[in-house]
Amino acid sequence: MPASKLQAGDTASPADLSLDRLRGLGPKRREALASLGVGNQRELLLLFPRAYDDWSSLTPLSEIQTPGSYTFRAEIASRPQLSRRGKLSWLRLRLWDGHTSVQATFFNQAWLRDKFQPGDSYIFHGKIDLSGPRKTTVNPAFISGEGGDQLGMLALYPLKQGLTQKLLRDAVSQVLKQGLAIKFTDPLPAQARQDFSLTSLDYALHKIHQPQNPYELELARKRLAFDELFLLRSAMQFFGQEDLTKLEAPVVIADKQVKEGMNYLRESLPFELTRSQVEAINDVLRDLRKPEPMNRLLQGDVGSGKTMVALFAAAYVGLAGGQTLLMAPTSILAEQHFGTFQTYLQSLGLAVDLLLGSTKAADRRRIVQACQSGETSLVIGTQALLQEDLHFSNLVLAITDEQHRFGVKQRAQLGSLIQTGGQFPHRLLMTATPIPRSFAMIFYHDLDMSIMRDMPSGRQEVITEVVKSQDLPSVYVRMREELQAGGQAYVICPLIEESEKADWESAEETYRDLATRVFPDFRLALLHGRLKAEDKDQIMEDFVQKKIDILVSTTVVEVGVDNPEASLILVKSAERFGLAQLHQLRGRVGRGSRQSYCFLHSDSDQDPAQERLQTLVAHTDGFALAEVDLKMRGPGDFLGTRQHGLPSFQLLNIYDDQAILQEVNQLINAIDQWKEPARSQELSLISRALSERYPHLDRGLVL
Ligand code: ADP
Ligand code: MG
Repeated sequence: MPASKLQAGDTASPADLSLDRLRGLGPKRREALASLGVGNQRELLLLFPRAYDDWSSLTPLSEIQTPGSYTFRAEIASRPQLSRRGKLSWLRLRLWDGHTSVQATFFNQAWLRDKFQPGDSYIFHGKIDLSGPRKTTVNPAFISGEGGDQLGMLALYPLKQGLTQKLLRDAVSQVLKQGLAIKFTDPLPAQARQDFSLTSLDYALHKIHQPQNPYELELARKRLAFDELFLLRSAMQFFGQEDLTKLEAPVVIADKQVKEGMNYLRESLPFELTRSQVEAINDVLRDLRKPEPMNRLLQGDVGSGKTMVALFAAAYVGLAGGQTLLMAPTSILAEQHFGTFQTYLQSLGLAVDLLLGSTKAADRRRIVQACQSGETSLVIGTQALLQEDLHFSNLVLAITDEQHRFGVKQRAQLGSLIQTGGQFPHRLLMTATPIPRSFAMIFYHDLDMSIMRDMPSGRQEVITEVVKSQDLPSVYVRMREELQAGGQAYVICPLIEESEKADWESAEETYRDLATRVFPDFRLALLHGRLKAEDKDQIMEDFVQKKIDILVSTTVVEVGVDNPEASLILVKSAERFGLAQLHQLRGRVGRGSRQSYCFLHSDSDQDPAQERLQTLVAHTDGFALAEVDLKMRGPGDFLGTRQHGLPSFQLLNIYDDQAILQEVNQLINAIDQWKEPARSQELSLISRALSERYPHLDRGLVL
């Protein structure tokens, strides 16, 4: 329940902001812009450059000792020589700055032969290569050398087909010229700008697009990064959910019978709980005995055994006469949990139900009824649970597994499950996505944390290797050995959207090839999102029962799925997956005592992809991975938008911008203490700025 839903106040009318008021943007180009999330002038200004060509400082050619991008002034020193072969043409000429020369080559720009006259002076910007006997450059950008030093830095935007850098720079320039005041509300109190040495918003928006030098750029970036964090933190603080500590939760009372039941449960396990599991269970049970709603995040790497914590919590609640709701991100995982929980809870005399989108009407009615009457102790399902009109007689605990997979909306809906009598259920959120401390402090500051650092004993590190297509035959040899030794394997094929036909076909093609050509003597199955729920469940069940040797699948098995006998996973076109996703996929193996293998297949030689895959080879601990990734590129990838449910930061680097983190916290706390009417006035500014800068953010639902 949002504490407040302030109205979005537009300072400029939509017509003023329309892109068709800008020169050079026809319908085709506007469409290309739309695919970048730019639908009006405001959004155009919020499309921040992803990099810059720095024309602001000229380097004398003689000082260039390492290869890289440089800006230099030089004269045309030789008559350009044009060569052609078929459709290709190239122009060679020598550039000279009085001391040193560079050989320049321009491909398919024959017209430059007449333009470049010996003696003309230009400023060039391009990559200088030093590998040959002399300095060379290919297709450098250039401008006339008159004028001089105030060239600034040229913005490089993310591009889509049909757009060019020049076009975007020109469009942005037109918007900037009209003045920004009408377009953006500045949410920062004037005093804060002074206290934290921040530039004006106008300046920052100008200079992020058109900085003259790196110094101006940093001033602009700092101001806008501050805004990013300030606005999102404000959204949570001022427009987010109500303070949970003011709500009342059911107190779980553990009598003798409950304690006996818990002991029985512990003895019925086939293994000893790890120390982390015991600690996490104790954290949870302690919270359940308090009258404030628990709001606890359980973090534990893939395979650390989080399900046991949920099991003990649900058993405790059930034995004391309360009800638990457990939500999983996929029906496969919900099914699997249902199996596990039923095994253990039934012997305690507790009823468990499974409610999925595919549950038949009659069963559904029975389950809805059982929730209402209090007959069921635990209902397990997917997000479809939230669409149900479920009423509980005594809902005590709501658990979400793989929390990071749920959108902001569902999380809030879960939070709004209030039972009759006005009590609010305790909440346990479980995730395998490690959340770095600095980040958790900002985004989960109202959550208590339990962190499970140790793994069940007997686990061996998964051996990870990056392989190319030509290595696949030897991967298959390895796979065959594994299968012959009684193991099972996953082969994962990429899929972006579950409905994308091409991807589905690629999984099917892989399946057919493996089943007929490579492993005709083994049992294979194909699993993908388009199968009927019953078929999916059957396949998973067969896989766990060892009726299937190789499961070819799309990422529907990404989270949670548990088959301790699976010992090898091959991920095809691994460069198409994010780091966190790959880590999750790898977590499908190595869940038992068997030595397990993960092969990441990729033919991509491109740097970021290779680097990401090598990071996985180097680290098997999810916490270490998260930290490395965070250092590499901010929270974008590991904690992408999908995962924390918030717009990802474009400019803030939560690693390097520690000072900003603290300043923003300080400012938010100060504003919260302001007296009326100043406080409300400030909040309405923030609200307006939020809707201008994050038009798609559903406030009120933030966390
Ligand atoms: P995750 O944290 O990824 O959800 P699971 O709860 O699915 O992990 O547990 C992974 C596997 O480890 C399961 O097969 C589970 O039965 C097993 N397991 C859980 N706890 C222990 C333990 N204390 N000792 C041995 N095996 C365990
Ligand atoms: Mg799990």
